[in-house]
Amino acid sequence: MSSILELKNLSFIYGIKTPFEKKAVDNVSLSINKGEFIGIIGHTGSGKSTLIQMLNGLIKPTEGQVLFNGEDIWQNPKDIRKIRFKVGMVFQYPEYQLFEETVYKDIAFGPTNMGKTVQETDAAVKKAAEFTGLNFNLLQKSPFDLSGGEKRRAAIAGVIAMDPEVLVLDEPTAGLDPVGREVLLSQIVQYHKKRKNTVILVSHSMEDIARVADKIIVMSKSRLVMFDKTREVFSRGRELEKIGLRVPQITKIMLELKECGYDLPSSVLTVDEAFSALSSLLKKEGKIW
Ligand code: ADP
Repeated sequence: MSSILELKNLSFIYGIKTPFEKKAVDNVSLSINKGEFIGIIGHTGSGKSTLIQMLNGLIKPTEGQVLFNGEDIWQNPKDIRKIRFKVGMVFQYPEYQLFEETVYKDIAFGPTNMGKTVQETDAAVKKAAEFTGLNFNLLQKSPFDLSGGEKRRAAIAGVIAMDPEVLVLDEPTAGLDPVGREVLLSQIVQYHKKRKNTVILVSHSMEDIARVADKIIVMSKSRLVMFDKTREVFSRGRELEKIGLRVPQITKIMLELKECGYDLPSSVLTVDEAFSALSSLLKKEGKIW
């Protein structure tokens, strides 16, 4: 598999050479392959937002390099704008960035800026609206007349419309009700399946990450402490607890049963997996047939 993003000894310091100097990202190196779904977890203040802002050149690393398809994104600083179309960024509460008269114009903003024709832009807007489950008859409304969930979809559609090779989402379901969260998460999964693009999702929900991510980046105190397959990361529950993170609840229950001596797998990620692991254990012990 070829890597789409490679981070080499990446560091970022805020307020460099001032009394407020703070190293927010400390010497992070990792490689993300094309088409992977990556989760990022870590406490507030662990460096997640700073790290993702370096992926599309919003901030320039104090040290180290970000390679996109093998090329240093800062090689030619004049071209840095182009990387923002390739690595699309959905910030927390992105609906605050809606500003056009209509939802249509808001979603069209990115593709228009990229120099796409009116027809290409129109097709991109409609496809993005479809991906995010935004009803077409909302497109001519003012973004301010939409509900909270619809505004969120419109903002995400604005990034998807640029057809980025990598889509980065920072807590996209924050503040939505449980149904809204579930629907949006499923749409992101569908988007990943259909477009086969790379998706990077920052989330505080271990349950969500367990369901969707192929691999997880774990940040703690500005450093990368784990980067591995989801199952591997969540099998290290005790280490995660030490840095103040938790594993999904179902993983924890199964881990505790295993520690009590039951013959169970070391990393169970979903309720369905737990059900089949427990069923086969009970069958083995002759408790059910
Ligand atoms: P996270 O996204 O994991 O919450 P951040 O990347 O936002 O972490 O923050 C990492 C560290 O950098 C924290 O200590 C935070 O206080 C500090 N920090 C973040 N943004 C700024 C800023 N604009 N100026 C100074 N320090 C900042």
